[in-house]
Amino acid sequence: MAVHDEICRAIDRFKDQAIGLGRQIHAHPELKFEERFAAGLLAGALGELGVEVERGVAGLETAFRAEAGKSGKSGKSGKSGKSGESDKPEPTVAILAEYDALPNGHSCGHNLICTAALSAFAGLAAIRGQLPGRVVILGTPAEEGGGGKIIMLEKGALEGVDVAMMAHPVDGEFATFPTLATRHLRLTFHGHASHAAAAPWAGASALAAVLQTFQSVDAARLHFRDGSRIHGIITNGGQAVNIIPEKAACEFLCRAHTTGYAREIADRVLRCAEAAAAATGTKLAHEVLGGYKNMINNLATAHRYARHCETLGVTAHDAPPDMPTGSTDMGDVSHALPAIHPIFRIADPGAGNCHEERFAKQTDTPRAYEAMIRVAKAMALTAYDLLAEPALIESAKREFAARQET
Ligand SMILES: [Zn+2]
Repeated sequence: MAVHDEICRAIDRFKDQAIGLGRQIHAHPELKFEERFAAGLLAGALGELGVEVERGVAGLETAFRAEAGKSGKSGKSGKSGKSGESDKPEPTVAILAEYDALPNGHSCGHNLICTAALSAFAGLAAIRGQLPGRVVILGTPAEEGGGGKIIMLEKGALEGVDVAMMAHPVDGEFATFPTLATRHLRLTFHGHASHAAAAPWAGASALAAVLQTFQSVDAARLHFRDGSRIHGIITNGGQAVNIIPEKAACEFLCRAHTTGYAREIADRVLRCAEAAAAATGTKLAHEVLGGYKNMINNLATAHRYARHCETLGVTAHDAPPDMPTGSTDMGDVSHALPAIHPIFRIADPGAGNCHEERFAKQTDTPRAYEAMIRVAKAMALTAYDLLAEPALIESAKREFAARQET
């Protein structure tokens, strides 16, 4: 299709700039909610494309939004068509950009996620006069533990969006990605301090409660469904070696294939902690620090993406349901509207896993940037098709309605 070629040519013209941005962001890693350098660079590049950029979206300093479409509007809220008096809303596709890093650098490759999103947007913005709808780019901070997309969802930043997409680099190539739901628990035990040698009978050890909790959780593991994960750390093990610990704390991340089951696991962990408190004569306080939902992959959209990957020379199958995986706040987006989160190969298997320091080296190679540009094209073409083919966007929405999970 001629318009597909035009989009790809525009992305090729943008390529050097996109790689330059990706390299700068890689060299300047920023933790969740502190991505000022990256957000500034990306917003600046969007401005150069001739679109209006809204910064500080959803009350998040490092979130941003821009849109392109035939109408030439750069709406502020994306709420068109909600009031009832406006015209029928235009079909709208959002491409999401992540750009936060981890303490060991860009070991999750979000410098490639944001430049792929930006390049895809640049390709579509180049033909905005022919776009049969709107394309929105959303800069979404703090995927690594901050749940930026959840805040943006709650504040309405995705209202009016029909389908959302993003792509993540790893060492494999798949059009779908089954991620785990999470529930993050903090458990704090309060005991009684006493001299550990002179009067241990007067104390109640909060550390003993923490240790007992870990043992009970380990005993319970066998009974959790396949694919579940529970991992914890002790965040406070006591105050001094010669004092019975008055306070001790730990955190657990409970993960499962569904949000409901992650909650069940977390409830079980909580019961283990309550039992430990009873056994040690301590008091338990708990907090739920948040959680991500599992990814519901929209197959109608993912399979169109896969078709474009094929014409671009790469095969992207559906991921096997039992593949090793992590969690993402894109899961929450996928529970709110049809969404895809394909993964793309930037290195050979064994070159390091996501979040490992050595993987950070793989996210800044010529091969990684070539893959990023290819994925940008596949996303842009998929977004264009969704806008241009009412039947495709309808099937994506029908599938979403039928697959709703808790
Ligand atoms: Zn990541």
